[in-house]
Amino acid sequence: MERYNIITEKFPREIVLLKSRPCAYGKCTFCDYIGDNSTNIAEMNQLNKEVLSNVKGLYDTFEVINSGNIFDLPKETLEMIKLKLSEHEFKKLFAEAHWIFRDHLDKMRQRLDIDIMFKTGVESFDYDFREKVLKKGAPFQSVEELKKYFDSPCIMVGIKGQTKDMIRRDIDIVLNQFNHATVNVYCENTTIIKPDGQLKEWFYDEYKWLDDVKHLEVLWNKTDFGVGD
Ligand code: SF4
Repeated sequence: MERYNIITEKFPREIVLLKSRPCAYGKCTFCDYIGDNSTNIAEMNQLNKEVLSNVKGLYDTFEVINSGNIFDLPKETLEMIKLKLSEHEFKKLFAEAHWIFRDHLDKMRQRLDIDIMFKTGVESFDYDFREKVLKKGAPFQSVEELKKYFDSPCIMVGIKGQTKDMIRRDIDIVLNQFNHATVNVYCENTTIIKPDGQLKEWFYDEYKWLDDVKHLEVLWNKTDFGVGD
C-alpha cells in the first residue's frame, strides 16, 4: 500500500497515510476502513516512523491522513509528526476529524504547534441522508454551524439512494461557502452502502469541470491522492 505521496497540483503538499487505532466514532454505514487499523501501538509507531521518514519539506503544507481521525493516532506518532513539522518548518497541516472532536480541534493545534486545516467527513448536507442512511453522527443543522468548527468538508457522490438534487445542492455549498473542500466519488467496498453507477456517470458528465476549480479537490478514484489501495 502506498503511504507517501507528493501532490503537485491544487494545494501542493506532501501527504502520508499513517496507521492508527480504529476510528473513535466507527459507526458510518459506508465505512470499512477498519482493515487498516491496529491496536498494536509499537507496530503502528514503527510503521509510522518509516512512512514519516519520507517527508522532505518540499512545500509549506503537509497532510496527515489515517483510517480514522488524527486523534486516533498514538501519542508517540503525534510527537513524530510534531518533530517533522518543526524540522521542515511547515506552515500548515491538513488533518481530518469527525464531528465528535469538534471541541478538541484547538487543543490539537496547540499540541502540534501549527495552523491546522481541519477536514471533516460531511458526506452530504442532506440531513436525513447523512444521518439516517449514512449514520454519520454529525447532526449539525446548518452550514454555519459546521463552519463554526471545521474548515473543509469532504462530501461523497454517487451513492445508491442519493439524488441528483442532493448532489447539486452539496456541490453548490462546497463551491460557494468554503475555501477548501474534497469531493469523493463513492467506490464499491465491503459495506451494504453501494455505489450508483448511473449517478456516477451523470456526475462525471455534468461536473467534470470541477477539476478546474482551484479550491475543490475531486477524487474520481479513492487513490487519487496517491496513497491507499
Ligand atoms: S468517521 Fe470516518 S473512519 Fe470513522 S467510521 Fe466514519 S468514515 Fe469511518
